[in-house]
Amino acid sequence: MSFFQDMFAVFKKRELLFIENRKESEDVYSFLFEREKDLTWKAGQYGLFSITHKTIKNPTKPFSLASAPTENMVKITTCIRDNPSDFKKALLELKPGMKVKMSGPIGSFNLQDNSPSLLIAGGIGITPFRSILKQIEAEGNKDEKQRKLLYLDGKKSYIYKNELDEIANNTSLSVTYLESRDDLHQEIEKFNALYKNNGKYFIAGPKSMVDSISTYLQNNHISKRNIKKDAFFGY
Ligand SMILES: Cc1cc2nc3c(=O)[nH]c(=O)nc-3n(C[C@H](O)[C@H](O)[C@H](O)COP(=O)(O)OP(=O)(O)OC[C@H]3O[C@@H](n4cnc5c(N)ncnc54)[C@H](O)[C@@H]3O)c2cc1C
Repeated sequence: MSFFQDMFAVFKKRELLFIENRKESEDVYSFLFEREKDLTWKAGQYGLFSITHKTIKNPTKPFSLASAPTENMVKITTCIRDNPSDFKKALLELKPGMKVKMSGPIGSFNLQDNSPSLLIAGGIGITPFRSILKQIEAEGNKDEKQRKLLYLDGKKSYIYKNELDEIANNTSLSVTYLESRDDLHQEIEKFNALYKNNGKYFIAGPKSMVDSISTYLQNNHISKRNIKKDAFFGY
């Protein structure tokens, strides 16, 4: 997706009808919205979501579209802890039939080619990968493409785990659940030993985590151009 396509998409605002929220774990919620027929996106992209039912200070925030383009709803998933921001309080107030605005989709966090790919999710950073994996499953990927998801979650909540396990069963993709940075580094080293700079590395999650994993990869001789990042600020 080019810069100009993103610019154009940002100006395209639409209203989304809220369906329901779902509690995924102690402090993680998904919000589901109706999907209009003409709305489409590339797995891994995000939208800019705006609260419209009340006036709040920062009414617009980016969220990855956690649903795949092949699913018939728009889903976002986020952490809501004690003392949430006004934006997240407003999300929790949504009742079926109420609306939010979304502009986009935008972003280029997509699998583009058939290179061996290591997908690294830190906690809530699993959201764009859910979309990417669901899409791979829907496209019937049964070939031997080397794609591996490493899912690091110190709290071991592993949201979407059942769905991810099902996708791993139905495709050639593998999923490894990890608890610590050391375990993550070991898994990265295994992949790195096999593919080095023939592989692509995708990292999503809180910005500090994404930056430190990216630095780790570069210190291990992975070129910057083989690393794609989706850094969530606000964590
Ligand atoms: C490309 C992209 C994709 C993203 N995708 C996702 C995603 O899929 N899921 C996701 O969760 N995030 C995602 N983010 C990050 C998201 O946009 C938010 O920045 C993030 O969720 C934090 O939101 P917040 O409202 O808690 O943040 P902030 O407003 O920055 O608040 C941070 C913290 O400050 C405190 N705080 C703020 N306001 C108040 C208040 N009024 N009263 C009390 N305490 C307060 C709270 O403790 C709060 O948790 C993405 C970001 C980018 C750039």
